Amino acid sequence: MEMGEDKLWRVLEFYSGIGGMRYSLMKAGVNAEVVEAFDINDTANDVYEQNFGHRPHQGNIQTLSAADLDSYDAEVWLLSPPCQPYTRQGLQKGSGDARASSFLKILQLIPQTSRPPLMLFVENVVGFETSDTHEKMISMLREISFNTQEFILSPLQFGVPYSRPRYFCLAKRKPLSFRKAQVNSYLGAPGPVLWSDENVVTSQGVELNGYWDKLIESCRPIEDFLDLKNCVSDAEESKEGKRPFNNPLKQYYVPSALIERWGSAMDIVFPESRRCCCFTKSYFRYVKGTGSLLATVPGMVKDRISSLQDLSLRYFTPREVANLHSFPEDFKFPPHVSLRQRYALLGNSLSVGVVAQLLCYLFADETL
Ligand code: SAH
Repeated sequence: MEMGEDKLWRVLEFYSGIGGMRYSLMKAGVNAEVVEAFDINDTANDVYEQNFGHRPHQGNIQTLSAADLDSYDAEVWLLSPPCQPYTRQGLQKGSGDARASSFLKILQLIPQTSRPPLMLFVENVVGFETSDTHEKMISMLREISFNTQEFILSPLQFGVPYSRPRYFCLAKRKPLSFRKAQVNSYLGAPGPVLWSDENVVTSQGVELNGYWDKLIESCRPIEDFLDLKNCVSDAEESKEGKRPFNNPLKQYYVPSALIERWGSAMDIVFPESRRCCCFTKSYFRYVKGTGSLLATVPGMVKDRISSLQDLSLRYFTPREVANLHSFPEDFKFPPHVSLRQRYALLGNSLSVGVVAQLLCYLFADETL
């Protein structure tokens, strides 16, 4: 055995939320342990603690010092900072938004640490890549000798019928380098670079006719991600003509008044569909642009439907959103977390299916 072969990578998880990064690390199967997680949100930390048996460090990441960071002796930092500064709803103020400052602060601390990390992984929304925070991040990483690779990827590219394109930056401190060195690049002139198992796909490739259609065709159907336990009782009850009374899914049916008011703006999918829209943290509170609704009538009847009211539309349950995020089956919310909070936490989280693949790639060929 080579020296150090059995040593674990020590990982810090910043903005840990409900632990999407940690699940991704587990799914990636890399020899790593999260030595500390950081989040300011009490409820998110309750969920994290319930699932991982460890309560994240509760507080503002902005207040961490270089000495604090050194004390963890970690080689890898995973970061999913707040995305509001870069979204349209968030007014795109970029680094001028107070919510961006803790992220920039933490990057600024890297050169002041006595043991800077060897690898970084950053997740954010599409739009981040054109922000001034991005510009600052890339120039800081360059200055302190990191190779970076950047990707915009969606679960649709990994067989999951879910559109959630996200920006990712992978960084390795020299002399560490990436396996696919040809994509060592910065987003910009050639446009976003996308990545798949075998191939590097450039944005031009993605613009080609039929790329997304073919991808969607190859995705698994939505029904594979539904909460079968509840759906079985749904079907049984409907046979008895009782639906939606005493139905565990009752609270998820969309009220008629909402369908009347917002029907035309709703993204409606069927169990046999192979695509649904990104669930945001406002899903269940607002219908427009926050995620898809599920038509629960059997597929073959679909063509004969004359009104949206006949579709028995319902929201995806939090468990189903978790399934589309490739969260493991044993992921659970503590009972005191309300339905709205569950959607908000899941909406802020990430696709474990996508991030696990990227982490595999980040750690590839590296041993301590
Ligand atoms: N990847 C996470 C979610 C990231 S969303 C998951 O899988 O759930 C961003 C998270 O950052 C939120 O949970 C929010 O509470 C936290 N956050 C935002 N600003 C923070 C700060 N200054 N200090 C600590 N946590 C912060």
